[in-house]
Amino acid sequence: MMKFADYPVQHLMDITARPELVFVRGAGSWLWDHAGKRYLDFVQGWAVNALGHSPRCIVEALAAQAPRLITPSPAFYNEPSLQLAALLTQASCFDRVFFTNSGAEANEGAIKLARKWGRMHRGGAHEIITFTNSFHGRTLATMSASGKPGWDTMFAPQVAGFPKAGFNDLASVAALVSDRTVAVMLEPVQGEGGVNCATHEFMQGLRDLCNRHGLLLICDEVQTGIGRLGTLFGYQHFDIEPDIMTLGKGIGGGVPLAALLATARASVFEHGEQGGTYNGNPLMTAVGLAVVGEIMQPAFLARVRELGEYLGAALSELSQELDLGLERGIGLLRALELKRDIGSAVVTTARDDLSVQPRWENAGLLLNSPRPALLRFMPALNLTTEEIDLMIDGLRLAVRAQG
Ligand SMILES: *Cc1c(COP(=O)(O)O)cnc(C)c1O
Repeated sequence: MMKFADYPVQHLMDITARPELVFVRGAGSWLWDHAGKRYLDFVQGWAVNALGHSPRCIVEALAAQAPRLITPSPAFYNEPSLQLAALLTQASCFDRVFFTNSGAEANEGAIKLARKWGRMHRGGAHEIITFTNSFHGRTLATMSASGKPGWDTMFAPQVAGFPKAGFNDLASVAALVSDRTVAVMLEPVQGEGGVNCATHEFMQGLRDLCNRHGLLLICDEVQTGIGRLGTLFGYQHFDIEPDIMTLGKGIGGGVPLAALLATARASVFEHGEQGGTYNGNPLMTAVGLAVVGEIMQPAFLARVRELGEYLGAALSELSQELDLGLERGIGLLRALELKRDIGSAVVTTARDDLSVQPRWENAGLLLNSPRPALLRFMPALNLTTEEIDLMIDGLRLAVRAQG
């Protein structure tokens, strides 16, 4: 058995505070560390492992594709990327797909596409209205588009042209529209911002506003897409159709795959304006094909909605029992207000200190606290109600331990 001290961790850039654990194995809703302790995982690679850890369909897709063809060059066609693009366009309101390797890169593509469209159709307009507390990625342009406090000065100067409106505040969006505006970009549910759900009226209002002013509506569905909200795409929950959408996270079920989708009208790239070495490579798109094929089944999505309601009800009940705050969310992207700034303490206790409890021998629970008084839940979409019950048990213990 390895000891943590035996690992040469100092060679990695120290970009975040990591616990002294090295994960070596995963299966479904469970992860195992270097010392053999197991963890019930309600983080799942940050809402990435839509089918849990190492699901059979991904293992098989990789095993089948790797010996056939890994990458021919993005300047040639390959079968899995054609098939996945066909699947995504048939299942959505979009006509064209550009595959990328990360959500941020997909959003960069969306920003470029909107700016190109503004040059062609709106007299050079280039501003994209985004929102406070939004998160669109960690490249310079997507950091500038994000409304995360402090990010405006972190790597100044920013990329210009992202005025910020208030989420669910249509008047604040309308007030920013000018001759320079080309698009509005938002997450249907702000994930990193703390699971803030757009209202039905707000999404409908944005669609109307964009139609009236000739603007593009861009949905960043890196977190909300691919079944997370109980519909294949988040926008379907709001009965609107965006002009551009980005996908990431769940689309690869754990491998680096993301996508930029556009309607035929908004798909204005010409040769030489967009590309990338690994973009649309058959190894990753073969995985995407397997993952999306499983999640898009009506019975699978119906089950996600059921599980979302089950989790929401269980969190509400626990909240009443422990005098916590409101529970919210759509599908299996949910959050619980804690009322006190105990989020990170609850995360640490749940991970490290449950082993003495009856149901948690040599086991822990992985949770996420995106804000000091808030927990976010982003489990595998195919988890079981027993796993939800066990999570609630661990959460109860971890909250009670805070006194
Ligand atoms: C995670 C996330 C991104 C960034 O995706 P990466 O793959 O980390 O680049 C962008 N937008 C939203 C809404 C996200 O949740």
